[in-house]
Amino acid sequence: MKIQAQVLTAFKTPLEAREFDLLPLADGEVLIKVTYAGVCGSDLHMASGQDPRTPLPIILGHEGVGEVAEIRGEKTDVEGRPLKVGQAVLWNRSVVCGRCFFCRGGEHHLCPERFVYGIHRGCDVPPHVNGCYSQYLPLDARTDIFRIDDVPPEHHKTLVTASCSGSTAAHAFDFFEPAGGETVIVQGSGPLGCFLVAMARAAGVGRIVVISRSRGRLEMTRRFGATDTMSVLDTSADQRREFVRSLTDGRGADAVYEAVGTAAVVREGIGLVRQGGRFITAGFGQPGGTMPWDPFWDLTRPDLKYVGVWVSHTRHTGRALELMKRHLADFAGMITHTLPLAQVNAAHDLMRRGEAMKVALAP
Ligand SMILES: [Zn+2]
Ligand SMILES: [Zn+2]
Repeated sequence: MKIQAQVLTAFKTPLEAREFDLLPLADGEVLIKVTYAGVCGSDLHMASGQDPRTPLPIILGHEGVGEVAEIRGEKTDVEGRPLKVGQAVLWNRSVVCGRCFFCRGGEHHLCPERFVYGIHRGCDVPPHVNGCYSQYLPLDARTDIFRIDDVPPEHHKTLVTASCSGSTAAHAFDFFEPAGGETVIVQGSGPLGCFLVAMARAAGVGRIVVISRSRGRLEMTRRFGATDTMSVLDTSADQRREFVRSLTDGRGADAVYEAVGTAAVVREGIGLVRQGGRFITAGFGQPGGTMPWDPFWDLTRPDLKYVGVWVSHTRHTGRALELMKRHLADFAGMITHTLPLAQVNAAHDLMRRGEAMKVALAP
């Protein structure tokens, strides 16, 4: 069968439509008819050559939902139920070996053989179609697949964000679950920031303060549970620190979650944490600069718990999906634009200009 996909052939150039021959499936593999592919901020970084992982040429797209089109042999979903043709599904964007030190210890996201659809495998690696910017996507037999047929079809598109930002946010909450009544700060108001806010609300924290650039997106975070928002365009760093102190009897926040991915934001964030508090940095998909760091004054003396969060695995995707299913209407607002896959370059432009929060592409 011949299918169409959008291919990045060179950095900083438009993606091009290409035709591919689908190879026969191997045992346990599942062919997905992609219904929606999400455009992630990482896709833009990859297209512009900022992500050191990017092979060329490549079919981008690591966020997707679809329908089972074909199964070779037996394949079960994450709950052990046999999959059937026609079922609506979402899958963990990453595939791991399941046997190494990290996989055996439950740290699957650190597996040295881990690959992510649309990120690590270019068109030269069989089955050549390895990303979601495509009409069809063959899934490796080791892919963890979730059935989503309990979600109304009009919200399947909504779920694409569970694949990446939702999963990463769930991973961040795996480390430190805020306690009820705590004060939490989220830096950033993109999809990852919104998920972090929604998870903080689900954890029952008292105040959720969001700091970011975009006034429009800050407004959106209120839907997910933000109680206070501050734009860096309207406030100084001193004003923001004073505000956080005023909420916490001068102590600072119990936890700060970073969802921007720059060193400058980290620098400000660790200054907002109370003594003994937590700083969880989840916003870095690629290098984001460096900063001065005094181990005594920045880490030891404040008894700071500083945690880096790298990507995610299946249980995190499951947790993101469960959260989304309870707030589908709110999360639907995150998808600001839907375009045909053929207009992928326009979609990237919308995201680059900050006009779209998330574009869903329909192949
Ligand atoms: Zn492994
Ligand atoms: Zn992503």
